[in-house]
Amino acid sequence: MRTPPFLATFAFPCYPRRMISRTAPIFVTGHRGMVGSALVRRLSAAGFENILTATRQELDLRDQTAVDSWFDRERPEYVIHAAGTVGGIHANRSRPADFLYDNLMIHATVLHSACRTGVSKLLYLGSSCIYPRDCPQPIREEYLLSGPLEPTNDAYAIAKIAGLKSCEAYRRQFGCNFISAMPTNLYGPNDNFDLNSSHVVPALIRKFHDARLEGAPKVAVWGTGNPRREFLHVDDLADACLFLMDRYDEAATINVGAGEDLAIRELAELIRDIVYPEAEIVFDSSMPDGTPRKLLDVTRLHARGWRHRIELREGLAAAYQWFCEQQPVATQV
Ligand code: GDP
Repeated sequence: MRTPPFLATFAFPCYPRRMISRTAPIFVTGHRGMVGSALVRRLSAAGFENILTATRQELDLRDQTAVDSWFDRERPEYVIHAAGTVGGIHANRSRPADFLYDNLMIHATVLHSACRTGVSKLLYLGSSCIYPRDCPQPIREEYLLSGPLEPTNDAYAIAKIAGLKSCEAYRRQFGCNFISAMPTNLYGPNDNFDLNSSHVVPALIRKFHDARLEGAPKVAVWGTGNPRREFLHVDDLADACLFLMDRYDEAATINVGAGEDLAIRELAELIRDIVYPEAEIVFDSSMPDGTPRKLLDVTRLHARGWRHRIELREGLAAAYQWFCEQQPVATQV
Protein backbone atom coordinates (compact mmCIF):
# COMPACT_ATOMS: atom_id res chain seq x y z
CA MET A 1 0.00 0.00 0.00
CA ARG A 2 1.31 3.46 -0.93
CA THR A 3 2.31 5.60 2.05
CA PRO A 4 0.52 8.90 1.62
CA PRO A 5 2.69 12.02 1.95
CA PHE A 6 0.75 13.44 4.91
CA LEU A 7 1.95 10.57 7.09
CA ALA A 8 5.38 12.09 6.90
CA THR A 9 3.97 15.38 8.19
CA PHE A 10 2.43 13.90 11.31
CA ALA A 11 4.85 11.49 12.93
CA PHE A 12 3.36 9.55 15.82
CA PRO A 13 5.09 8.35 18.97
CA CYS A 14 6.11 4.75 19.59
CA TYR A 15 4.31 3.74 22.77
CA PRO A 16 6.68 1.64 24.84
CA ARG A 17 4.26 -1.02 26.11
CA ARG A 18 2.57 -3.16 23.48
CA MET A 19 -0.40 -5.26 24.35
CA ILE A 20 -2.01 -6.52 21.20
CA SER A 21 -0.13 -8.68 18.74
CA ARG A 22 1.24 -7.05 15.58
CA THR A 23 1.09 -10.35 13.70
CA ALA A 24 -2.49 -11.41 14.51
CA PRO A 25 -5.19 -10.61 11.92
CA ILE A 26 -6.95 -7.33 12.65
CA PHE A 27 -10.10 -6.38 10.76
CA VAL A 28 -10.71 -2.69 10.04
CA THR A 29 -14.28 -2.22 8.87
CA GLY A 30 -14.99 0.73 6.59
CA HIS A 31 -11.37 0.99 5.41
CA ARG A 32 -12.25 3.14 2.42
CA GLY A 33 -13.74 5.84 4.62
CA MET A 34 -11.91 8.67 6.32
CA VAL A 35 -11.63 6.88 9.69
CA GLY A 36 -10.99 3.39 8.35
CA SER A 37 -8.28 4.54 5.95
CA ALA A 38 -6.56 6.49 8.74
CA LEU A 39 -6.65 3.36 10.90
CA VAL A 40 -5.07 1.27 8.16
CA ARG A 41 -2.29 3.89 7.77
CA ARG A 42 -1.70 4.01 11.52
CA LEU A 43 -1.72 0.24 12.00
CA SER A 44 0.64 -0.24 9.03
CA ALA A 45 3.00 2.34 10.46
CA ALA A 46 2.88 0.53 13.82
CA GLY A 47 3.97 -2.72 12.18
CA PHE A 48 0.71 -4.66 11.96
CA GLU A 49 1.35 -7.35 9.36
CA ASN A 50 -2.09 -8.77 8.80
CA ILE A 51 -4.66 -6.01 8.35
CA LEU A 52 -7.93 -7.38 6.98
CA THR A 53 -10.29 -5.20 4.96
CA ALA A 54 -13.35 -5.75 2.81
CA THR A 55 -14.95 -3.39 0.33
CA ARG A 56 -18.70 -2.84 0.25
CA GLN A 57 -18.85 -4.98 -2.90
CA GLU A 58 -16.98 -7.83 -1.22
CA LEU A 59 -18.99 -7.74 1.99
CA ASP A 60 -22.31 -6.06 2.75
CA LEU A 61 -21.99 -5.44 6.48
CA ARG A 62 -25.78 -5.20 6.77
CA ASP A 63 -26.12 -8.86 5.82
CA GLN A 64 -25.65 -11.19 8.80
CA THR A 65 -25.18 -14.31 6.67
CA ALA A 66 -22.46 -12.64 4.62
CA VAL A 67 -20.77 -11.23 7.70
CA ASP A 68 -20.89 -14.62 9.45
CA SER A 69 -19.26 -16.37 6.48
CA TRP A 70 -16.62 -13.67 6.23
CA PHE A 71 -15.70 -14.01 9.94
CA ASP A 72 -15.70 -17.83 9.67
CA ARG A 73 -13.32 -17.64 6.73
CA GLU A 74 -10.97 -14.82 7.81
CA ARG A 75 -11.00 -15.37 11.60
CA PRO A 76 -9.89 -11.92 12.75
CA GLU A 77 -8.28 -11.79 16.19
CA TYR A 78 -9.08 -8.10 16.62
CA VAL A 79 -11.67 -5.78 15.12
CA ILE A 80 -11.77 -2.01 14.88
CA HIS A 81 -15.29 -1.20 13.79
CA ALA A 82 -15.18 2.05 11.87
CA ALA A 83 -17.81 1.32 9.21
CA GLY A 84 -21.08 3.20 9.16
CA THR A 85 -23.34 5.38 7.09
CA VAL A 86 -22.29 8.90 8.07
CA GLY A 87 -22.99 12.42 6.93
CA GLY A 88 -23.38 16.03 7.89
CA ILE A 89 -26.34 17.91 9.26
CA HIS A 90 -28.23 18.09 5.94
CA ALA A 91 -27.79 14.39 5.04
CA ASN A 92 -28.82 13.31 8.54
CA ARG A 93 -31.90 15.50 8.44
CA SER A 94 -33.00 14.39 4.98
CA ARG A 95 -32.24 10.63 5.11
CA PRO A 96 -32.97 9.55 8.70
CA ALA A 97 -34.32 6.12 7.71
CA ASP A 98 -31.11 5.25 5.81
CA PHE A 99 -28.95 6.36 8.71
CA LEU A 100 -31.01 4.37 11.21
CA TYR A 101 -31.31 1.16 9.18
CA ASP A 102 -27.75 0.96 7.83
CA ASN A 103 -26.12 1.66 11.14
CA LEU A 104 -28.38 -0.57 13.24
CA MET A 105 -27.68 -3.46 10.88
CA ILE A 106 -23.95 -2.84 10.44
CA HIS A 107 -23.33 -2.73 14.16
CA ALA A 108 -25.56 -5.70 14.97
CA THR A 109 -23.97 -8.02 12.40
CA VAL A 110 -20.34 -7.22 13.16
CA LEU A 111 -20.68 -7.44 16.94
CA HIS A 112 -22.66 -10.67 16.68
CA SER A 113 -20.10 -12.34 14.39
CA ALA A 114 -17.20 -11.07 16.46
CA CYS A 115 -18.70 -12.60 19.60
CA ARG A 116 -19.61 -15.86 17.88
CA THR A 117 -16.12 -16.39 16.46
CA GLY A 118 -14.32 -15.43 19.67
CA VAL A 119 -12.64 -12.18 18.60
CA SER A 120 -10.19 -11.24 21.40
CA LYS A 121 -10.87 -7.53 21.34
CA LEU A 122 -13.15 -5.17 19.45
CA LEU A 123 -13.14 -1.38 19.44
CA TYR A 124 -16.44 0.25 18.56
CA LEU A 125 -16.53 3.89 17.53
CA GLY A 126 -19.42 6.01 18.75
CA SER A 127 -19.73 9.72 18.04
CA SER A 128 -20.03 12.91 20.06
CA CYS A 129 -23.40 13.60 18.40
CA ILE A 130 -25.02 10.77 20.30
CA TYR A 131 -24.87 12.68 23.57
CA PRO A 132 -28.00 14.61 24.58
CA ARG A 133 -28.50 17.92 22.78
CA ASP A 134 -28.43 20.15 25.82
CA CYS A 135 -26.11 18.31 28.15
CA PRO A 136 -23.57 20.25 30.23
CA GLN A 137 -20.29 21.16 28.53
CA PRO A 138 -17.68 19.81 28.27
CA ILE A 139 -19.49 16.50 27.80
CA ARG A 140 -18.51 13.75 30.19
CA GLU A 141 -18.95 10.11 29.26
CA GLU A 142 -21.63 9.57 31.88
CA TYR A 143 -23.98 12.11 30.26
CA LEU A 144 -24.95 9.55 27.62
CA LEU A 145 -28.72 8.95 27.70
CA SER A 146 -29.27 11.69 30.26
CA GLY A 147 -31.58 13.79 28.05
CA PRO A 148 -33.28 14.25 24.64
CA LEU A 149 -31.21 14.01 21.44
CA GLU A 150 -30.56 16.70 18.84
CA PRO A 151 -33.42 16.24 16.31
CA THR A 152 -31.25 16.81 13.20
CA ASN A 153 -29.33 13.57 13.88
CA ASP A 154 -31.52 11.58 16.25
CA ALA A 155 -31.90 8.59 13.89
CA TYR A 156 -28.14 8.21 13.53
CA ALA A 157 -27.67 8.69 17.25
CA ILE A 158 -30.21 5.99 18.17
CA ALA A 159 -28.43 3.49 15.92
CA LYS A 160 -25.01 4.39 17.33
CA ILE A 161 -26.30 4.18 20.90
CA ALA A 162 -27.70 0.72 20.11
CA GLY A 163 -24.22 -0.32 18.92
CA LEU A 164 -22.59 1.08 22.01
CA LYS A 165 -25.07 -0.65 24.30
CA SER A 166 -24.54 -3.88 22.33
CA CYS A 167 -20.85 -3.77 23.23
CA GLU A 168 -21.80 -3.58 26.90
CA ALA A 169 -24.39 -6.35 26.49
CA TYR A 170 -21.94 -8.77 24.81
CA ARG A 171 -19.42 -8.00 27.51
CA ARG A 172 -21.99 -8.68 30.28
CA GLN A 173 -23.53 -11.79 28.77
CA PHE A 174 -20.53 -13.42 27.09
CA GLY A 175 -17.49 -11.72 28.63
CA CYS A 176 -16.38 -10.26 25.26
CA ASN A 177 -13.62 -7.65 25.45
CA PHE A 178 -15.60 -5.09 23.44
CA ILE A 179 -14.57 -1.52 24.19
CA SER A 180 -15.91 1.73 22.78
CA ALA A 181 -14.67 5.24 22.14
CA MET A 182 -16.52 8.47 21.39
CA PRO A 183 -14.72 10.58 18.82
CA THR A 184 -15.53 14.24 18.39
CA ASN A 185 -16.08 15.83 14.93
CA LEU A 186 -13.35 14.55 12.63
CA TYR A 187 -11.69 15.81 9.47
CA GLY A 188 -8.75 14.85 7.28
CA PRO A 189 -7.78 12.83 4.20
CA ASN A 190 -10.54 10.84 2.47
CA ASP A 191 -13.24 13.03 3.96
CA ASN A 192 -16.50 13.42 2.06
CA PHE A 193 -16.43 16.69 0.11
CA ASP A 194 -19.91 16.41 -1.38
CA LEU A 195 -21.77 19.55 -0.30
CA ASN A 196 -25.09 17.78 0.22
CA SER A 197 -23.80 15.14 2.59
CA SER A 198 -20.54 16.44 4.03
CA HIS A 199 -19.68 17.75 7.45
CA VAL A 200 -18.73 21.37 7.94
CA VAL A 201 -14.94 21.19 7.50
CA PRO A 202 -14.87 19.51 4.08
CA ALA A 203 -17.89 21.58 3.01
CA LEU A 204 -16.13 24.85 3.81
CA ILE A 205 -12.85 23.72 2.23
CA ARG A 206 -14.74 22.93 -0.96
CA LYS A 207 -16.83 26.12 -0.88
CA PHE A 208 -13.84 28.43 -0.40
CA HIS A 209 -11.83 26.51 -2.99
CA ASP A 210 -14.60 26.70 -5.59
CA ALA A 211 -15.22 30.38 -4.85
CA ARG A 212 -11.54 31.11 -5.34
CA LEU A 213 -11.52 29.27 -8.66
CA GLU A 214 -14.60 31.15 -9.84
CA GLY A 215 -13.44 34.47 -8.44
CA ALA A 216 -16.67 34.67 -6.42
CA PRO A 217 -16.38 37.32 -3.67
CA LYS A 218 -18.71 35.67 -1.10
CA VAL A 219 -19.00 32.25 0.51
CA ALA A 220 -22.18 31.08 2.24
CA VAL A 221 -21.81 29.42 5.63
CA TRP A 222 -24.91 27.61 6.92
CA GLY A 223 -26.71 28.72 10.04
CA THR A 224 -25.79 31.64 12.26
CA GLY A 225 -22.10 30.83 12.75
CA ASN A 226 -22.70 30.72 16.52
CA PRO A 227 -22.76 26.97 17.24
CA ARG A 228 -19.54 25.73 18.76
CA ARG A 229 -17.80 22.53 17.65
CA GLU A 230 -14.62 20.66 18.52
CA PHE A 231 -12.52 19.12 15.74
CA LEU A 232 -9.92 16.37 15.71
CA HIS A 233 -7.68 15.35 12.83
CA VAL A 234 -8.47 11.76 11.85
CA ASP A 235 -4.80 10.74 12.16
CA ASP A 236 -5.02 11.70 15.83
CA LEU A 237 -8.15 9.58 16.20
CA ALA A 238 -6.40 6.61 14.58
CA ASP A 239 -3.51 7.03 16.99
CA ALA A 240 -5.93 7.12 19.93
CA CYS A 241 -7.62 3.94 18.66
CA LEU A 242 -4.30 2.10 18.61
CA PHE A 243 -3.55 3.44 22.07
CA LEU A 244 -6.89 2.10 23.33
CA MET A 245 -6.49 -1.26 21.59
CA ASP A 246 -3.13 -1.62 23.29
CA ARG A 247 -4.07 -0.51 26.77
CA TYR A 248 -7.78 -0.03 27.49
CA ASP A 249 -10.05 -2.92 28.46
CA GLU A 250 -12.84 -1.29 30.42
CA ALA A 251 -16.56 -1.40 29.72
CA ALA A 252 -16.96 2.37 30.09
CA THR A 253 -16.80 4.33 26.85
CA ILE A 254 -14.05 6.93 26.53
CA ASN A 255 -14.16 10.32 24.80
CA VAL A 256 -11.57 11.12 22.13
CA GLY A 257 -11.22 14.79 21.35
CA ALA A 258 -8.96 17.79 21.34
CA GLY A 259 -10.58 19.32 24.43
CA GLU A 260 -11.08 22.72 22.75
CA ASP A 261 -13.88 24.08 20.62
CA LEU A 262 -14.56 27.15 18.51
CA ALA A 263 -17.54 28.87 16.90
CA ILE A 264 -18.43 27.87 13.33
CA ARG A 265 -17.80 31.54 12.47
CA GLU A 266 -14.20 31.20 13.72
CA LEU A 267 -13.78 27.91 11.88
CA ALA A 268 -14.97 29.56 8.67
CA GLU A 269 -12.46 32.37 9.18
CA LEU A 270 -9.62 29.87 9.71
CA ILE A 271 -10.49 27.97 6.54
CA ARG A 272 -10.97 31.20 4.60
CA ASP A 273 -7.50 32.37 5.65
CA ILE A 274 -5.97 29.11 4.42
CA VAL A 275 -7.91 28.73 1.18
CA TYR A 276 -9.15 32.12 -0.04
CA PRO A 277 -8.28 35.05 2.25
CA GLU A 278 -10.03 37.62 0.03
CA ALA A 279 -13.46 35.99 0.44
CA GLU A 280 -16.30 37.53 2.43
CA ILE A 281 -18.26 35.18 4.69
CA VAL A 282 -22.06 35.41 4.63
CA PHE A 283 -24.37 33.38 6.85
CA ASP A 284 -27.35 31.48 5.44
CA SER A 285 -29.74 31.36 8.37
CA SER A 286 -32.26 29.32 6.37
CA MET A 287 -30.02 26.32 7.12
CA PRO A 288 -30.04 24.69 10.57
CA ASP A 289 -27.53 25.34 13.35
CA GLY A 290 -27.98 21.93 14.92
CA THR A 291 -26.80 21.42 18.45
CA PRO A 292 -25.54 24.66 20.06
CA ARG A 293 -22.31 23.23 21.44
CA LYS A 294 -20.45 19.92 21.34
CA LEU A 295 -17.24 19.78 23.33
CA LEU A 296 -16.00 16.53 24.83
CA ASP A 297 -14.46 16.24 28.26
CA VAL A 298 -11.25 14.33 27.57
CA THR A 299 -10.05 14.05 31.17
CA ARG A 300 -10.40 10.27 31.19
CA LEU A 301 -8.22 9.81 28.08
CA HIS A 302 -5.65 12.40 29.18
CA ALA A 303 -5.37 10.67 32.55
CA ARG A 304 -4.35 7.51 30.72
CA GLY A 305 -1.57 9.32 28.91
CA TRP A 306 -2.94 10.11 25.44
CA ARG A 307 -3.47 13.57 23.98
CA HIS A 308 -3.90 14.89 20.47
CA ARG A 309 -0.91 16.22 18.57
CA ILE A 310 -2.26 17.89 15.44
CA GLU A 311 -3.44 21.43 16.13
CA LEU A 312 -6.45 22.67 14.19
CA ARG A 313 -4.72 25.21 11.96
CA GLU A 314 -2.00 22.83 10.77
CA GLY A 315 -4.51 20.00 10.42
CA LEU A 316 -6.81 22.15 8.28
CA ALA A 317 -3.89 23.25 6.10
CA ALA A 318 -2.90 19.60 5.60
CA ALA A 319 -6.50 18.64 4.83
CA TYR A 320 -6.65 21.39 2.22
CA GLN A 321 -3.37 20.25 0.72
CA TRP A 322 -4.75 16.71 0.47
CA PHE A 323 -7.93 18.03 -1.13
CA CYS A 324 -5.92 19.98 -3.71
CA GLU A 325 -3.86 16.90 -4.56
CA GLN A 326 -7.07 15.04 -5.40
CA GLN A 327 -8.33 17.72 -7.78
CA PRO A 328 -7.88 17.48 -11.55
CA VAL A 329 -4.91 19.65 -12.58
CA ALA A 330 -7.16 22.19 -14.31
CA THR A 331 -8.96 23.03 -11.06
CA GLN A 332 -5.93 23.29 -8.77
CA VAL A 333 -5.24 26.75 -7.42
P1 GDP B 1 -23.16 18.55 13.18
O1 GDP B 1 -21.93 18.75 14.02
O2 GDP B 1 -23.80 17.22 13.39
O3 GDP B 1 -24.14 19.68 13.35
O4 GDP B 1 -22.70 18.45 11.66
P2 GDP B 1 -22.06 19.41 10.55
O5 GDP B 1 -20.59 19.23 10.55
O6 GDP B 1 -22.77 19.08 9.28
O7 GDP B 1 -22.41 20.90 10.94
C1 GDP B 1 -21.77 21.59 11.98
C2 GDP B 1 -22.20 23.04 11.99
O8 GDP B 1 -21.62 23.70 10.86
C3 GDP B 1 -23.71 23.27 11.89
O9 GDP B 1 -24.04 24.35 12.75
C4 GDP B 1 -23.89 23.67 10.44
O10 GDP B 1 -25.03 24.49 10.22
C5 GDP B 1 -22.61 24.48 10.22
N1 GDP B 1 -22.26 24.67 8.80
C6 GDP B 1 -21.92 25.86 8.24
N2 GDP B 1 -21.73 25.74 6.93
C7 GDP B 1 -21.90 24.42 6.64
C8 GDP B 1 -21.81 23.66 5.43
O11 GDP B 1 -21.55 24.18 4.36
N3 GDP B 1 -22.02 22.32 5.54
C9 GDP B 1 -22.30 21.71 6.74
N4 GDP B 1 -22.47 20.37 6.76
N5 GDP B 1 -22.43 22.40 7.88
C10 GDP B 1 -22.22 23.74 7.84
